[in-house]
Amino acid sequence: MPTTVGHTDREGSGNMQFTLSEEHRLIQQSARRVAREVIAPRAAEVDATGEYPEDYFQAFREADLLGITLPQEVGGADAGTLALALAVEEVAKYDCSAGLMLLLSSLSTHTIKFFGTQAQREEFIGPIARGERKGAFCLTEPDAGSDVANLQSRAVRDGDDYLISGQKCYISAGPIADQMVVFAKTDLNEPRSLNAFIVDATMPGFEVTSIDRKMGVRGVPTGVLTFDNVRVPKSRLIGEAEGLGMRGPLTTLNSLRPVVGARGVGLAEGALAYALDFARERRAFGGPLTDLQAIQMKFAEMAIDIEAARLLVYQGAWMVDQPDFGPSKAHYLSMAKAFATEMANRVASEALQVLGGQGYMMDHPLERHYRDARQLMIVEGTSEIQRVVIARSLIDRQLVYG
Ligand SMILES: Cc1cc2nc3c(=O)[nH]c(=O)nc-3n(C[C@H](O)[C@H](O)[C@H](O)COP(=O)(O)OP(=O)(O)OC[C@H]3O[C@@H](n4cnc5c(N)ncnc54)[C@H](O)[C@@H]3O)c2cc1C
Repeated sequence: MPTTVGHTDREGSGNMQFTLSEEHRLIQQSARRVAREVIAPRAAEVDATGEYPEDYFQAFREADLLGITLPQEVGGADAGTLALALAVEEVAKYDCSAGLMLLLSSLSTHTIKFFGTQAQREEFIGPIARGERKGAFCLTEPDAGSDVANLQSRAVRDGDDYLISGQKCYISAGPIADQMVVFAKTDLNEPRSLNAFIVDATMPGFEVTSIDRKMGVRGVPTGVLTFDNVRVPKSRLIGEAEGLGMRGPLTTLNSLRPVVGARGVGLAEGALAYALDFARERRAFGGPLTDLQAIQMKFAEMAIDIEAARLLVYQGAWMVDQPDFGPSKAHYLSMAKAFATEMANRVASEALQVLGGQGYMMDHPLERHYRDARQLMIVEGTSEIQRVVIARSLIDRQLVYG
């Protein structure tokens, strides 16, 4: 029986600081300004048309928000994951697609940041950090989503090049990306032969189809990507040599799980604020809705849920920024992702309920938040997969509750 109570794996990281640094605050304020001035007035239109909001992207670029977690020497801010989570939270209050746009510059480059050579970082991270190019992260396939080890895209060595073939589906920003990190195996029978390659959208043999019929997060296009013997120079194999394996996608996804959670926290904060404003004005039974205790309790529950999720998300983001970030922290990042994204669904639903029939109508943003929130429990590892990670860490005694 364990004799101590606690999380021994957290001790090496020191204590989490609850005070944000000056840099954190500046990034948060910058994101808040873009959110209010550019995103809030446009969010409903972006959802209705499903057109990629290039104006959001340009505003992010001008505010230096695209390279928050990316290395300084190639034009990023190197401000860390907590800074990215703060920025994503601000913009997701108004539009969850905007949160995904900010997250994508990290998702599409973190495999290169963690495992690439210096030359690859300069050539392929710099332009994304500076907002000159757009990127995508291509892992999921028609027959391999959660079961990453089973993916069937292959990379065949041909002289100084690789020929990449396969299909990727549900790829965020696939239809507009200039470059993609594509995961493929050199031996289809061997999961450890998984490697990652940087592919340009202009390379012959690459084709993309946009999936327009989508429930939410309609500001970021989703694509089906086909690679038919796309010739990629060896210099675009991420790392010095083959052998990346599963740590490529897992480290990348782990590093951003709290940031997906931050999209949920922001969305929920936006939904709660909107429902509160509505309830102060809407009258029933002789007074405002806010006089009804049943409605008050809903608001209190939502606030508790949001606060708990925010703490898990900030803690997770902070953990990613510590020098000992690695697989032993995966369960905390999964908890942050699972809890915050499920919380966003609960809060979006309850906030909509406060508006009654009006909540169901497109005149208010809550039905959009409700649709957008649903995406969060599926992407970058489903809620079920996060639980698999957490359960495994309990069973393997990485996480000990005495
Ligand atoms: C809008 C959108 C954007 C996306 N963007 C990207 C992107 O940019 N890049 C990218 O690579 N992918 C992207 N995805 C794909 C997403 O990551 C996958 O859909 C997700 O990982 C689940 O894979 P799947 O759809 O194949 O479901 P499956 O893996 O087939 O899962 C089906 C169901 O079974 C459950 N399940 C599967 N295995 C287990 C298990 N071991 N234990 C318990 N339950 C299990 C799942 O949780 C799910 O409920 C996107 C998806 C969407 C919807």
